[in-house]
Amino acid sequence: MTELIAVIPGDGIGQEVVPAAVEVLEALDVEFEFVEGDAGDAVLEARGEALPEETYELAANADATLFGAAGETAADVILPLREAVDSFANVRPARAYPGVDSLRPETDLVFIRENTEGVYSGIESEIAEGVTTLTRVITDDASRKIARYGFEYADSNGFDDVTVAHKANVMRMTDGQFLESAVAVAEEEGYEYDDALMDALAMHLLLRPEEYGVVICPNLAGDVLSDLAAGLVGGLGLLPSANVGEENALFEPVHGSAPDIAGQGIANPAATVLSAAMLLDHLGYGEDADRVTAAVEGVLSDGPRTPDLGGDASTTDVTAAIVDQL
Ligand code: ATP
Ligand code: MG
Repeated sequence: MTELIAVIPGDGIGQEVVPAAVEVLEALDVEFEFVEGDAGDAVLEARGEALPEETYELAANADATLFGAAGETAADVILPLREAVDSFANVRPARAYPGVDSLRPETDLVFIRENTEGVYSGIESEIAEGVTTLTRVITDDASRKIARYGFEYADSNGFDDVTVAHKANVMRMTDGQFLESAVAVAEEEGYEYDDALMDALAMHLLLRPEEYGVVICPNLAGDVLSDLAAGLVGGLGLLPSANVGEENALFEPVHGSAPDIAGQGIANPAATVLSAAMLLDHLGYGEDADRVTAAVEGVLSDGPRTPDLGGDASTTDVTAAIVDQL
């Protein structure tokens, strides 16, 4: 069966790294049909809207979407696109690679971040001049869903350690609910896990990342902890991510449009190629995903490398080397 992959490069280096990832996918023996969609700053300028309806529909109806980056219009593009794929989980692996400078070379973490509620639900008000409030929504349904996804992810990706992050000692009702729902899923399905207070966890991740694997988090904690882990492995440049929905998903590098280097042909395609590997895995092509990941690892360790990693190779050189390793 041919799978329909929406390809939305967007702005800046998105125009360079997304075609690179598509080239890698095309080198595999999988039947994908790629359909390109427009979004971002340039589209806003040309057509008066950053995310045309047809691009939203393309992502909503595709089997998966590969997205690059949007510049100034990022919020107008990526938030609706995540909604188009009905994303409830943000999956962010943070892994150190041999040959790449990192603070903690033993880091191999995956953050499974709840993506629909918590303090990011946007229910804020100013109840009096200078007095503001925020309503934090945590439901049993969404918490069970993210916990189940996290446990299954750990199971099918060979992670032994699963940690549920929370602050239930202070946010007794909301994080209490999050933890209670996660524990219920673990008990029903027979999964092993630990739970950890998110502040202490931040410190432990910094000091002993090797003791952790999959970390299941409420929305804000996942945002903060996964950025901390990005720092452990050497910055945002190599990190892929997935926004996973029930029927659909969108894959994107964690980095943005990098206007400072856009158009020079020197962007590192690794984060987007690794996002494509996550796409493969999500669609059930686990072996191909592993091959792509291994090829990226090989090139990161042996070169060629783009300037962000201290080399002088171009995006095209690195992509060709990845395809070669396949
Ligand atoms: P945006 O506004 O789209 O988020 P930004 O200016 O915040 O863009 P990022 O894309 O977040 O830029 O990148 C931050 C820094 O990391 C920039 O200096 C950028 O050049 C660098 N960078 C990001 N991604 C890559 C990449 N794939 N290859 C090389 N350098 C990168
Ligand atoms: Mg940025």
